[in-house]
Amino acid sequence: MMGRLAAGQNQLFYDFCLEKFVPEKHVLRALDQFLDFTEIRKHLAPYYSAIGRPSIDPKLSIRMLLIGYCYGIRSQRRVCEEVHLNLAYRWFCRLGLEDQVPEHSTFSKNRHGRFRDCELLRFVFETVVERCMDEGLVGGEGFAVDASLIKADANRKRGFAGTEGIDWQRPGRKTRAVREYLDALDNDEQTVRAHEATRKAISLTDPASCWTSAPGGPANYSYSTNYLIDIDSAIILGVEATPSTLSEEARAARTMIDHTEKRFGVKPKHLAGDTAYGNAQMLGWLVEDRQITPHVPVMDKSEGKDGQFGLSDFSWESEADRYVCPGGKSLERNRRQFKNKRTGVTKANTIIYRASQSDCGHCSLKDKCTPKEPARKIHRSIHEDARDLARALACTEAYAQSRNDRKKVEILFAHLKRILRFDRLRLRGPIGAQDEFLLAATAQNLRKLAKLVIPPAPREPLVT
Ligand code: SF4
Repeated sequence: MMGRLAAGQNQLFYDFCLEKFVPEKHVLRALDQFLDFTEIRKHLAPYYSAIGRPSIDPKLSIRMLLIGYCYGIRSQRRVCEEVHLNLAYRWFCRLGLEDQVPEHSTFSKNRHGRFRDCELLRFVFETVVERCMDEGLVGGEGFAVDASLIKADANRKRGFAGTEGIDWQRPGRKTRAVREYLDALDNDEQTVRAHEATRKAISLTDPASCWTSAPGGPANYSYSTNYLIDIDSAIILGVEATPSTLSEEARAARTMIDHTEKRFGVKPKHLAGDTAYGNAQMLGWLVEDRQITPHVPVMDKSEGKDGQFGLSDFSWESEADRYVCPGGKSLERNRRQFKNKRTGVTKANTIIYRASQSDCGHCSLKDKCTPKEPARKIHRSIHEDARDLARALACTEAYAQSRNDRKKVEILFAHLKRILRFDRLRLRGPIGAQDEFLLAATAQNLRKLAKLVIPPAPREPLVT
């Protein structure tokens, strides 16, 4: 017999408990046990007035933001709707069945105001990292670093080639993102200035974003999210938003390593990264300043092309401070005597070693060595010892292991884009990008905690 749904939505009283309704194994329960807002309230307290109408509890705002980033709900308006309708979300936000869900505009006010003033989102991220450390998920031996492009919220057709001739004062053009960009230029911020020098196109919507493309893809305005992870459990220890250029990504890596040491007291013994982190300045900083072993491929332009001699064909004699060429002749740095003593270091932080014209002029190897110049010269980086160390390490087993470990960062980026559906920013400007990257990384660390840390089993009642 065909059944009929019993009509029954007009019951007056219900015996309903939200706590019992959310399944024991629901992922939000797992996340909830790792959230502690005690310190967060203390951190925020100075930014609230002691009198006046009570604000929305910041705990509620953060819980709602985390739901959005954990479940890939990127629109704040939709997060509010989902929290209103979904019982598990209500439970996670500590809202009762009849409690009002805050307006989405409230988030904007808090995010762009108080939360930014006190760097709340970074504080929340670091609180979760501390919890990961307490749970023993951070080994502190080896770190890995990488960056990934995330599209800015900017139409690729709404841009200018070059920065000349843009009237930023035109009505309707001076948005928050534009103000942030102009302020950074006024303050002569190094990152923005360096970016300006190499810029091909500028977005009128988000001028601080960078016109760039992933290999094989179309160009877009984008930012880079930079992750520094501990390779034991792939916990994210540092996050930075930067323009998508190699020099900025290397700078972000240095900032994150320094900040992690200062904030959490951990410094890696070795760092795994790709060629973007293999420039001379970065390797010098790692080896000479921080005593970190670089498991990083060297960015090398010193090898010869078309069968010509490259740097590796010349042997270095450190005590004599000279190179010896394949023809057995010497390349020296001080062939000319100057009245005023010079350091010999060029603007590119290299020292030039030159062979003598008389040696090269009669050399049978000249066509393979320096066919166009009268004498061979070699630019040696002031960080060449660090580069040599990185080259030597590239043949070790530890380096091969680090190459595998490096993939853990790429897996995190894939998870970010595919599972958390974070391939385009919703907020504009570098601060908006930083906020979003911090929240996404916090969500990823929380999910990792929920997956790896098994909560203590409930105790069996004592039988007497
Ligand atoms: S060309 Fe000059 S530097 Fe090159 S192998 Fe001959 S002597 Fe040496």
